[in-house]
Amino acid sequence: MRQSGTSDRLQKILDNFNDTSISKKLLEKINLFKKNVSIMEVCGTHTVAIFRSGIRYGLPKNINLVSGPGCPVCVTPTVEIEKAIGLACKKNVTLFCFGDMVKVPGINETLETAKAKMGANVKIMYSPMEALDYAESNKKEVVVLLGVGFETTIPLFCSVITRAKNNKVKNLFLLSAFKLVPPALDALCSSKELKIDGFILPGHVSAIIGEEAYVPFMEKYRIPAVITGFEPVDILEGIYLLAGMISSGERLLKNQYKRVVSFEGNQKAQALINSVFRPCDSEWRGLGTIKNSGLSLSDDFKAFDAEALIDFDVPDVKDPKGCLCGDIIKGVRKPIECKLYKKVCTPESPVGPCMVSSEGTCAAYYKYGG
Ligand code: SF4
Repeated sequence: MRQSGTSDRLQKILDNFNDTSISKKLLEKINLFKKNVSIMEVCGTHTVAIFRSGIRYGLPKNINLVSGPGCPVCVTPTVEIEKAIGLACKKNVTLFCFGDMVKVPGINETLETAKAKMGANVKIMYSPMEALDYAESNKKEVVVLLGVGFETTIPLFCSVITRAKNNKVKNLFLLSAFKLVPPALDALCSSKELKIDGFILPGHVSAIIGEEAYVPFMEKYRIPAVITGFEPVDILEGIYLLAGMISSGERLLKNQYKRVVSFEGNQKAQALINSVFRPCDSEWRGLGTIKNSGLSLSDDFKAFDAEALIDFDVPDVKDPKGCLCGDIIKGVRKPIECKLYKKVCTPESPVGPCMVSSEGTCAAYYKYGG
């Protein structure tokens, strides 16, 4: 049915999304591939879309889908959670974060339980702009913004920090736990543990960084990869293209999501990121420290660096006992291999971040039946 105000081109795209005959044809073609292949969907949004649409159950058994490190909440290591708790527990500090982050377990507490038991001042935000508004209205408080996310989310935080600088806001600080996707792909491929034949690459991250950002990775590893959108028909086409490349021995980067992702990406967003941040080494849950996979504030924005400018304690950290989140993020285990899955660890009482986040692999298995 035509929606009001929709152009012919957009309506055609919407009609194609709803035309199940296209998905059925793609599934039939995918079923013709007989080789055993393992394909990693790097991004948590794809993991959830694959479960929700039933694609996981419609694929032939020789196509094994493995979830990767593309859930920002999941890859944020315990040490960053402890830093956030340490800051939020300081007198006169208010910490702003996205809703999923308050439930991620630190050593003994989450941000949510630290608020209830220890008086930590934690506010859930829907947009980081809320932290700036709060800082401008509460000049006597120290406001800390917990920065978690990939290249898709980072430009929004850059806008906030740039605006804070322009408005001469002195009481807003950023705790940067951002992560970059291409260095993580490099780390995954350099690991001998992982046996992956091809990658479904995240469409939304790629909209910012463009196809170009994957060129060094492709030159180094020459592994089939497809930048893929999030509609079921997009994902099926991505899998079909990957299965075809794997079968024929082609080792290319293909872009299934051309309606959104260009070769050069969103250059305005990239310029914004490059003006506010510099790449730095960063620790990932499960993957360890990866060179140049995080972002620290550039010299022009150092006045907003929470870690450098606010004193707070960070205890030695240990990951939750028995939790396999690290291996799940690396794609070497599945949630059903974790002894805690569904018994001790549930969305109501999560032990690890992969059960907390709406994009976490354990939460997706739990909700949609793994
Ligand atoms: S089921 Fe829970 S404890 Fe096990 S890996 Fe997943 S989040 Fe960690």
